[in-house]
Amino acid sequence: MLVVQKYGGTSVETTEKILKIAEKIAQDYDRGDKIVVVVSAMGKTTNYLINLLDQVNPNANSREYDMIASTGEQISIALMASALSRYGKKSVSLTGFQAGIDTDSTYSRAALKRVYRGKLMSLIDDGIIPVVAGFQGISPSGDITTLGRGGSDTTAVAVAYGIGADLCEIYTDVDGVYAADPRYVDKPKKIDKISYDEMIEMAAHGAKVLHLRSVELARRYHVKLVVKHAHMKSEGTIIEEVGRLEEPLVRSLTVDEGIVKIVIEDVPDIPGIAAKTFKQLSDRHVSLDMIVQSMHRDGKNDIAFTVSKEEFKDALEAVNHVKEEIKAGNIHSDDTMAKISIVGVNIIGSSEIVYNMFDAIASIGVNIDMISTSNSRISCVIKREKLREVAKVVSKRFGLEE
Ligand code: ADP
Ligand code: ASP
Ligand code: MG
Repeated sequence: MLVVQKYGGTSVETTEKILKIAEKIAQDYDRGDKIVVVVSAMGKTTNYLINLLDQVNPNANSREYDMIASTGEQISIALMASALSRYGKKSVSLTGFQAGIDTDSTYSRAALKRVYRGKLMSLIDDGIIPVVAGFQGISPSGDITTLGRGGSDTTAVAVAYGIGADLCEIYTDVDGVYAADPRYVDKPKKIDKISYDEMIEMAAHGAKVLHLRSVELARRYHVKLVVKHAHMKSEGTIIEEVGRLEEPLVRSLTVDEGIVKIVIEDVPDIPGIAAKTFKQLSDRHVSLDMIVQSMHRDGKNDIAFTVSKEEFKDALEAVNHVKEEIKAGNIHSDDTMAKISIVGVNIIGSSEIVYNMFDAIASIGVNIDMISTSNSRISCVIKREKLREVAKVVSKRFGLEE
């Protein structure tokens, strides 16, 4: 089998852990697998690097952000390749550029353009295990780019697609995908198999176990994905095309603490206002989540939307840029909110599920600030301080615990 194995930050946080993983990779190789390894930065290295930059200049430009943030992975690849050679395997470390990973020039959240097959395949054909730096690529102007926090998963899937691998294994610090984030719910059920669509909804709404774009890529290019524990034997969770059920079903719960709400007050209720506003956001490549326009009096509305914390600065700049033109009133933001979502099949088609979501939240006296839905999800924005309590009551209501 031709396999891409990706190891996340906590799995390679010490040199002991790197050696253990190298030993396991060497055994897989001896069993006959052809392997490309993708690694993240060790432990919390990326946070440390970004913090250094912040100390020097909180408004440093994003090219420099990528330049420093990408270095964590460069440490890991050299260590992993060296650990592999200690176990008698030929191995070569490669930066994103050296591996042939091309992106656009959107620093800090670059989009992948292509992964060249040639370099990696010729190494594999020579019996060498390539160890590729996750999270980074190279822009058309030859600058280092990064793919957004958690982006090593996306590197792994892109490499798997690029070389036509049979499987992309994501090794992490949990033994698969659970029905709820184990940090918020005591004993969530483990999921053995899940569809790309459901996993996309989960990743898009807070389940950081997989980077959203990695699952989107895997679905588009039919890359088979497995999430497994890096240091314990387990079957893990398979993410693949699963025949759609008709029966409404709540399979999982996700939470997202990384959101900020932006409210534009008193915008004129005339055609073109939303388009002008969101054009500015689009020009800055800001990803949006919930958008709510409230009915108002006197021909004016409020428009509220949420963005991720990382994109807040760009979003606020976009809104301030267009404020005069659209004759808006005040603009304010709120970073005390969080989002809780349930994900499954045909959710919005079942008013019983919708009722139970709202009733569970109401049963502990928590107010819902914003709601958004899709066919397979309901999300509610609530006060962040209530998130744990709400996660517990919602997971109980839908039987998501053991
Ligand atoms: P890595 O460093 O390996 O990339 P991440 O921290 O990005 O690991 O992702 C793994 C973490 O995702 C787990 O430790 C877990 O806390 C979190 N997580 C959130 N939601 C889920 C879920 N539904 N199932 C499993 N893990 C989840
Ligand atoms: N090291 C990067 C981060 O911390 C990428 C990753 O771990 O996937 O976001
Ligand atoms: Mg991750």
